Amino acid sequence: VARQRSAGLEVDILEGNSLRVFAPWLGDRVVAASFCDEDSYASPLACGVALRTLLVARGVALCAHAPVLRITRSGTAFSVESAAGTVQARKVLIAAGPWSAAIAATLGVTVPLGADVNMLSATEPGPHMIDRVVTHVDGILSLKQYANGTCLIGGGWQGRGSYQSGAKELDYVNLLHNVRTAIAVLPSLSRLTLLRSWSGFEAVAPDALPVFGRLSGVGDAYIVAGARGAYSQGPALGLEIARLMTEGQTELDLTSFTPARFGA
Ligand SMILES: Cc1cc2nc3c(=O)[nH]c(=O)nc-3n(C[C@H](O)[C@H](O)[C@H](O)COP(=O)(O)OP(=O)(O)OC[C@H]3O[C@@H](n4cnc5c(N)ncnc54)[C@H](O)[C@@H]3O)c2cc1C
Repeated sequence: VARQRSAGLEVDILEGNSLRVFAPWLGDRVVAASFCDEDSYASPLACGVALRTLLVARGVALCAHAPVLRITRSGTAFSVESAAGTVQARKVLIAAGPWSAAIAATLGVTVPLGADVNMLSATEPGPHMIDRVVTHVDGILSLKQYANGTCLIGGGWQGRGSYQSGAKELDYVNLLHNVRTAIAVLPSLSRLTLLRSWSGFEAVAPDALPVFGRLSGVGDAYIVAGARGAYSQGPALGLEIARLMTEGQTELDLTSFTPARFGA
């Protein structure tokens, strides 16, 4: 909390009676919590569609289902070859999650990206309990409830799979730990049926920090990948990479995320 406050966030600590009054749904084992009124969440199902509509309205040309096969550079110009044809560009940004490494490799740059296989579970709709994202300082948990009552349980418990092959599956032991942690925090979850669990890939660099910035030695080619929890961080990183690509600098000091730390 001290670190968050020093970074300008308004965060409170809740304990004892004030915690019970504020969050009566918390389990007995929870003795204290931090709370940030500015914190929130968005549904990717709604947000993705809204974002896409906005981009099209602003005249952005979107080309879906056209994986980039390779990027080549000739002087200051790039050719981006995709399944739907070739696009010429003066600047390129590689933002393809763990698959960014393969795209950067076609430019001759090695970016060491791997992938976590995160699991997520959805319950049947239940009575309204929480209107915040609840996380756990001591165990990996993220817990939220949508307006229809569905609770989403995640936080980074690992499934199994490989982003190279695309194969992914659940790890039921880890899933059990995930659900147990969730129930310890929110006991009434135990009355809800788990409807669906699934897993997906999240890019991760060897030091678990984002890979953000201009690639070395290949002109105006940039990368943003490996920012964990990047659904939340995406808007900020998107704004900053746009600043870097158009104005040559970011507003925040993001130098520790430079791909140059890996020689990339
Ligand atoms: C189950 C799960 C739960 C999560 N929960 C949360 C959460 O609650 N909060 C949070 O902040 N984050 C969460 N994350 C993490 C978050 O989803 C990622 O950090 C974020 O999606 C990374 O965004 P990105 O745009 O960098 O990469 P990605 O979302 O991985 O997007 C990469 C895109 O590149 C595309 N692509 C791949 N190859 C090519 C190619 N050759 N050419 C063109 N395009 C290509 C892919 O199809 C994909 O659309 C979760 C992740 C998972 C898997």
